[in-house]
Amino acid sequence: MNQAAGPGDFPQSFTSNEEADFLVDDDHPRDECGVFGICAPGEDVARLAYFGLFALQHRGQESAGIAVSDGRRLKVSKAMGLVTQVFDEEVLQSLRGGFGIGHVRYSTMGSSVLCNAQPVVVETPYGRIAVAHNGNLVNCAPLRDELRERGITFEGTNDSEVVAQLIARYHQGDLEEAIVRALARLEGAYALVILAHDKVVAARDPNGIRPLCLGALNHGHHVVASETCALNVVGARFMREVEPGEMVVIDADGVREFQAVPIQDKRLCLFEFIYFARPDSCMYGRSMHLARRRMGHILADEHPVDADVVIPVPDTGTPAAIGYAERSRIPFGEGLIKNRYIGRTFIQPHQRLRELGIRMKLTPLTETLAGKRVVMVDDSIVRGTTTRRIVRLLRDAGAREVHVRISSPPDRFPCHYGIDTGNRGELIAATLSVSQIREFIGADTLGYLSLRGVMRAIGLHRGAFCRACFDGQYPVSIPRDQLLGKFALETHTARGVAAENKPPEYLERVP
Ligand code: SF4
Repeated sequence: MNQAAGPGDFPQSFTSNEEADFLVDDDHPRDECGVFGICAPGEDVARLAYFGLFALQHRGQESAGIAVSDGRRLKVSKAMGLVTQVFDEEVLQSLRGGFGIGHVRYSTMGSSVLCNAQPVVVETPYGRIAVAHNGNLVNCAPLRDELRERGITFEGTNDSEVVAQLIARYHQGDLEEAIVRALARLEGAYALVILAHDKVVAARDPNGIRPLCLGALNHGHHVVASETCALNVVGARFMREVEPGEMVVIDADGVREFQAVPIQDKRLCLFEFIYFARPDSCMYGRSMHLARRRMGHILADEHPVDADVVIPVPDTGTPAAIGYAERSRIPFGEGLIKNRYIGRTFIQPHQRLRELGIRMKLTPLTETLAGKRVVMVDDSIVRGTTTRRIVRLLRDAGAREVHVRISSPPDRFPCHYGIDTGNRGELIAATLSVSQIREFIGADTLGYLSLRGVMRAIGLHRGAFCRACFDGQYPVSIPRDQLLGKFALETHTARGVAAENKPPEYLERVP
């Protein structure tokens, strides 16, 4: 029997965050960003980029942008909102050219405001360039200070603009050389696409923390994208993943590759497999859907329970719930219906809607739940507040028992590489034991998949992944400034830290 924890054990922030959870969507780690690049002279590149971004919408819903070049002029269009809200026929018609990049954003550095939307366009003595970035630079603040001291002004407070300005600073007529010099200065996680007037350049950080893949279209044209699902939607054939530290140049002559910065240990974000990537995407040659189903199989082995029905928390918990049901031979059922039209751009709810809370997003199916012993499968718990409300929903709908199964290990450490998991104080597993979390969420039992189980499900060694949010082993050292989180640059600038010009103090190192 799990050990019960008293109410005094729960940090106040877990309950006070419930309203915030509702406002910002749910209790999962927040996605990062998605990037797309295409070189297809003679094609309607803006439209293809639109489709690619649409497929990557799950990676960021705050803003979207596309930049195109017709070989002479580079033009950008970006705004706050979903891809379908930002672009209409008229906007797409105005974006003419054979080279393009696109971006969907969830803010992991810098506020969610238009000046931080991407692609970022900067002027260089040799023409405009546009940059779109997925990831997080851990040395962004000192780089930004350095550029400001050289008289460069910034429109926004995001690390992507720092990358763009750094490239512009090094641009002496050879863009590829400038990019290589800029990449050598970057620390952290990045998947970059860069647009010049006649080429698209893609680059990935030396650990390959954020994903990036290369695909081929007909007529010798090429695309790059955060995930393979964006290749599929534009009819591109998957060629390969961009390697850690690699730079890929795509122009009218085809594809050229360079090892731009020395490759480190490959450390793809493990959460891509657990939650972020779309189920129909592949990474490391593996299907996300199949890996998640196998996580469900192993979760059933590690945490069996007698029950009448297995239900997912839709949609991301579905593959693991299918797997749990397959292995346990407990029937799979739909117990929660999700309103798919609540996005992050949902209107600010007034008091009446706040009272409705989680019911605006998830409705329990009494037919599935009443009188049943229910296994509820989800992929992660961050703060625990949403899970607690869902458990309550199930009980209100008549569930006799609620057994919560999570297809990942407890999320104990914050991410500094482009995923908004909240700070350590917001992570329920950072301060509470599993039995205390069970008590907090009100479940009869609670079981997390072990890290070993996750690796068995994927079929790869743990050394191939960043798994720092589970074990605290950060593959790239985190300077103290970065601990300020997504508003680091706002805070950094406001405090005048630039004037002090102190070298970063490193807090966490991996042996
Ligand atoms: S810390 Fe976690 S979420 Fe961040 S890159 Fe590593 S595995 Fe992914």
